[in-house]
Parts: sequence; C-alpha cells; structure tokens
Amino acid sequence: MSEDQQLLCKYEEDLRKMVSETKELTKFGQVADYIPALAEADPDDVAVAIYDGRNTCFSEGNDEQLFTLQSISKVLTLALALIDHGEETVFAKVGMEPTGDPFNSISKLETQVPSKPLNPMINAGALAVTALIKGGSVDEKLTRILEFVRLLSGNSALTYNDKVARSEWESADLNRSLAYFLRQHGIIEGDVEKLLELYTKQCAIEVTCRDLAKIGYSLAYDGIHPDTKEPIMERDIARLVKTFMVTCGMYNASGEFAIRVGIPAKSGVSGGIIGAVPYRLGIGIYSPSLDDKGNSLVGMKLLEKLSKKYQLSIF
Ligand code: GLN
Repeated sequence: MSEDQQLLCKYEEDLRKMVSETKELTKFGQVADYIPALAEADPDDVAVAIYDGRNTCFSEGNDEQLFTLQSISKVLTLALALIDHGEETVFAKVGMEPTGDPFNSISKLETQVPSKPLNPMINAGALAVTALIKGGSVDEKLTRILEFVRLLSGNSALTYNDKVARSEWESADLNRSLAYFLRQHGIIEGDVEKLLELYTKQCAIEVTCRDLAKIGYSLAYDGIHPDTKEPIMERDIARLVKTFMVTCGMYNASGEFAIRVGIPAKSGVSGGIIGAVPYRLGIGIYSPSLDDKGNSLVGMKLLEKLSKKYQLSIF
C-alpha cells in the first residue's frame, strides 16, 4: 500500500469513529426554523469531509446531502468584495472587531458611532459587504458570486436553492431592518429590497460537505483552485478572511472555539461548518442540529476531535 493509500485508510477509519462518537449530540440541539424552509432539514443528519489536496476528498456520513451555505457565504462574499474594491473601501463600510452579540443583533448599530457594523461575519456587516459586490443587476452580481464559489469548490454545477431563498426573503424582517438602518446611516446605498434579494440568494447557495471541504482547502492554501492549484485571490485576502474566521466565524462562541479547536472556521444556521487549516486541510461538515448560538453541535465536536487527533490548532 502506498503512503497516500495508507493515509486515506487512516482518515476513513478516524472519521467513521468520530462520527459514531458524536452523532448522539444531535438529540440536544434544534434545527433552525426562523427561516421556515430550514426547518425541513433532518436533525439526525451528519456528514463530514476532509480534503488535503493530494487525495480525493474523503468523507463519512450523508455526504451527498445538499445544504445551503447561509452565513458561510459571508466569508466568500467578503473575499469577492476585497477582490472587487480592496481593503480601504471595504473597511470603510465594515469593521474588524468581534461583537460578543448574536449574529442578527441590531443593538451595536445604534450605540456605535459611526453606525458601522463591527465585522463582516454578523448579518449587518455581511449586508454591507454584499452591497459592495460589483455588477449591473442582482442577477449579474449573483452570477459573479456563484462563479466565484464554483471556482473555490472546483464544482462548476453549484447553484442556489430558490425555495430556501424565497423562504428567507419572505421572513427576513430583521435583516430588512438592519439594511434600512444601514442605509439611513450612509453605510449602504441603493435599493434595500434588491440587496435583500441578493443576500438571501447568496445564503441559499447549495453545497455538500465535500464542496465545503474543497473551499476550505482553497482558503487554507491562500486562495488557490482546489484541483488545478491556480491562484484565485491574493494571498493577503485569504489571510484576512481566515483571520475573521478565527475572531468572528462561530458568532459569539468564537472565543471558546478558538481555545478548544483553534481552526479558522465559519458556521451557518443550516448546520454547515467550513474549516481551513492553513497549509494542511480543508474541512466540510453538515449537521443541522444547532446549539442556542446557532452553531452545529456535532460539527463543533467533530472539529474538536479532528483538531486533537491531527493537531490542527493554529495556536
Ligand atoms: N441567512 C441567514 C440570516 O441572515 C444566515 C444566518 C446564519 O447562518 N447565521 O439570518
């Protein structure tokens, strides 16, 4: 058996064991239901994939299951906005500090002067970032985002789930409030409803855990294509994005996650988590049973186990 084959068998065995040790945790969480379409997810689903760029993506569990990116998309639109405009323009509209508040909180927008969202990983900040994506129409901007995610995942078939996008669109009063507040304070300009359309569609981009692992790999290796290894973004943009993943990627649980796991990661309320272990691995996880902060219970435990087993903490 070659060295690569041995490694594959080891991953295979380790992942199987980790999934069986953690899957019971799905019982202690809940599937997100504030976006009605997300409530249809199977709370018992668990899937994990890892990609090291050498072998095929390796996975365990329900790895064919599609799920929507939700907040994971915030990392990718941040990278695209930075490619479109550079740091100065982007960080004129959004800050670089963690909040300690829930991801959809409005409170700091009112108390901060100027009223600029604290970071691009909370909803207010992500809306400000999405407003910067270049393109003449919602369709054109969405196509640019989709093409970018297709490149990062090496999967040219990726698209968005219209049902989930509509479901969020129809129930997005809180995000609408954030966006109108931001426009009043000059952080965003233009049609808020169009921004909401783009944001909900971006959040509804569908992937499997294997796609996520490949995107994680791309970020882990400074933004290269996961298969061809061609550069997709400047190294500095990938570095910046990974730093936000560490400081704000798991919402207001990012501090404890950094201590327990130490992997740049970003979660979404669909139950997905992406991990980017610098110059080593991309990790993709799906398990929609969430804790009270909106993070996948099994996902966080799996990342903790992977981090310990392979010594993946960056600290
Ligand atoms: N689309 C979701 C929202 O804006 C994303 C939130 C999340 O995944 N935390 O509420």
